Amino acid sequence: MELSRREFLKLSGATTVGIFVFEALGSERALAATPRVFLVKKRIGETTTICPYDASGCGFIVGAEGDTITNIEGDPDHPINRGAACAKGASLSQLHTVDGKINPRRLTKVLYRKPGGTEWETKSWDWAIDQIARKMKATRDSTWVSQDELGYTVNRTDGIASVGGAALDNEECYLLVEMLRTMGMVYVEHQARI
Ligand code: SF4
Repeated sequence: MELSRREFLKLSGATTVGIFVFEALGSERALAATPRVFLVKKRIGETTTICPYDASGCGFIVGAEGDTITNIEGDPDHPINRGAACAKGASLSQLHTVDGKINPRRLTKVLYRKPGGTEWETKSWDWAIDQIARKMKATRDSTWVSQDELGYTVNRTDGIASVGGAALDNEECYLLVEMLRTMGMVYVEHQARI
């Protein structure tokens, strides 16, 4: 069907009026309808978190009751995923809770395998933190560079590097980098940037 410019404008105007009438009637009906009431029967503490799986850094809302996670869903206010979740993110609760119980496969202790060893040994957190501190200090001391080849004072270690994980949020990254720079580290990377 061929339309003249005048006929086209008339048709567009009629369609627009039709849409406004439809919208207005629809809104009125919606306002007149009885609002549905959802009763909250459980006390659920909700908090926000960042997905630890990959560098996208999607935001989630976690609902918990006691030490059990009752629900995890995409955070609609998060600027990255806006409420969406991929298959991995949607299964996030299983990192902690499976069938209403704490996931029995969740690691809760430090497992250590010594150099050349074939078995995992269970260690305490105090032992692990002490070991990490000792090894970092020893490596930093043995690789410390006070001056570069041109004689400039640099005070750095070239023997330690850091790769941050995607689960770290901005504030955690800030604190981590403050600590690493204070120790004289210059090789600092983050999974989200790689
Ligand atoms: S929800 Fe999916 S895409 Fe988003 S950070 Fe987690 S694994 Fe990555």
